[in-house]
Amino acid sequence: MAFEPFIETVDVQWPSEMARTSDIVAVTVSYPPGKAYEEKPVSSASSTPTKYTELPREDSLNDVKIYVNGGLRQCVMCEREFLGDQLLACSKCRAVIYCSSTCQKQHWKEAHKHVCGLYKAMMEREEELAMKIFLFPCSVDQPCKWLESLGIHRKGMWRRKCSCYSYCPFGLLPVKPGLSDSWGGLDDEEYPRDSPFPNHLREGISSPILLSGWSEYYNLRSLPLSSPVADILTHPLTLYYIITTLSISSKNLLLNGKEVIVHYLGPEGELDSMPAFAEVGHLLNGSGNVQIVMVGPEVPLNLSGTTSGIGSRVRVNLVRGIYQEEATYLPPPSVVVALNCGFDSHTIWGDALDLIKSTGVPTFFTDQSEISCANAKQALRAAGLHITHPVTPNPFRSPVRTHGPSSNLPSYSNGFVLGVNT
Ligand SMILES: [Zn+2]
Ligand SMILES: [Zn+2]
Ligand SMILES: [Zn+2]
Repeated sequence: MAFEPFIETVDVQWPSEMARTSDIVAVTVSYPPGKAYEEKPVSSASSTPTKYTELPREDSLNDVKIYVNGGLRQCVMCEREFLGDQLLACSKCRAVIYCSSTCQKQHWKEAHKHVCGLYKAMMEREEELAMKIFLFPCSVDQPCKWLESLGIHRKGMWRRKCSCYSYCPFGLLPVKPGLSDSWGGLDDEEYPRDSPFPNHLREGISSPILLSGWSEYYNLRSLPLSSPVADILTHPLTLYYIITTLSISSKNLLLNGKEVIVHYLGPEGELDSMPAFAEVGHLLNGSGNVQIVMVGPEVPLNLSGTTSGIGSRVRVNLVRGIYQEEATYLPPPSVVVALNCGFDSHTIWGDALDLIKSTGVPTFFTDQSEISCANAKQALRAAGLHITHPVTPNPFRSPVRTHGPSSNLPSYSNGFVLGVNT
């Protein structure tokens, strides 16, 4: 099993005064040796806006077109919302969008000139990161429409993939019994059965099934590549990948038939996707046990403290609260995971990171884009942690490319993985 070769576009070193803030724009960037980006003399004319509809496009970059169809986007400068086809992009990097050339010029002067070269380089990774094996549309501008086109809008676990059910707290979506219903009524062969893998013995001994990526998994389950289930399975399979491949200590526990205890931080939509986590147990293939302790403020009060068995080898405990406050009451972890950790938007990570530093437990984070990983690294370093598993594309990231309201940078649920204390 090998990692995809991947070189981080840039290792962003932040000035210390920026270390714990979430503003990523007004920083200086130190490029790696020999990789300095050409910076033209500063003038507002050195980057001019381009209208989306005028972008030159290659067939392979079809997904750029989706913005023209007009989802609601936001000008990065004035933060006003507009329809996609009314907006401009930075003509050099195309990564950030503006309502007007006035906003674009002001943003260039105040912030963007420092990161435009970096963003351009990150935009160039798009091809490398796209997963081309799948036969469903892997680019989403308007989630409701995307789900509609697949026949799964407002159904089963997919209800968390758009904002139609955002009024309902996480973990409390009503469920109908039946696996087919939880997978949104997909055809029988389009979702994984809740059943063991037949005939999967190595030299007559059962041991956890090791997977290198989606195509191996789809093969193993005989799923058609037109099935979008990877977008939901990204959470359980990323967790499984971390336990079996990235964390040596938890892997050894499994091989010895022991229990791996995972502290799973900040669950949200996953709380309504429990049927998908059954796959973790099946992939264990008769070896070891996993206890997943999901802890976070989004766990609903009436579910906090409950334990449910998912198959015979996986137990999930739900704990409502802030990790650093609850941790002493939890069974000591073999590994800690925080998926789509969002250091960009969460400012409460500081104390949790201090705890992770003091316990020394292997901890893995995923985040959606390279720039969010750069933020994550900065927060980790500010907490005195060393990155021992460098930022790497996650083979079990969702194949579905998303974007922020004002950014076009390649972004995927669980896009990249990094780790400390590993
Ligand atoms: Zn604007
Ligand atoms: Zn730019
Ligand atoms: Zn919807």
